[in-house]
Amino acid sequence: MSESKNFNKIIHLAFPPNTSGRPVVCNLGKLYNLSFNILKADINPRLEGSMTLEITGLEEDYHKGINYLKENGVRLIPVAQKIARDDESCMHCGMCLAMCPTGALSLEKDTRLVLFDLEKCTACGLCTKVCPVRAMEVDPQD
Ligand code: SF4
Ligand code: SF4
Repeated sequence: MSESKNFNKIIHLAFPPNTSGRPVVCNLGKLYNLSFNILKADINPRLEGSMTLEITGLEEDYHKGINYLKENGVRLIPVAQKIARDDESCMHCGMCLAMCPTGALSLEKDTRLVLFDLEKCTACGLCTKVCPVRAMEVDPQD
């Protein structure tokens, strides 16, 4: 084995009703040699599905796989639609810092403020479990 599978990303997908029963996600492995781990899956009463996936593989294959999903009607949901911080409520207590696995939440040394970097956030939701004032909110649209 000479190729290393070093690309890893968490993505959020929305499936229209006509794709819910088709194995498009399984095909990521078969067609593009990507490994995937389903972190969360849901289906609403209108039979629209949503899924949070951790994908591992070669970056080139990842992009091919994403194109394949889009061609099959699957929509990528930006992280910004999955998580939000209510800056008015946040009291910068720092409880969430230790929970965040990606470094999206960090402490600014000089000001002692807790910063939130949406670019690094995967919307895993771990911070929401410890925030005493519920300033971190997953699926704000829901
Ligand atoms: S736990 Fe909540 S209130 Fe405390 S710093 Fe984090 S987001 Fe702000
Ligand atoms: S949801 Fe919270 S814990 Fe998870 S990556 Fe984003 S900021 Fe960090």
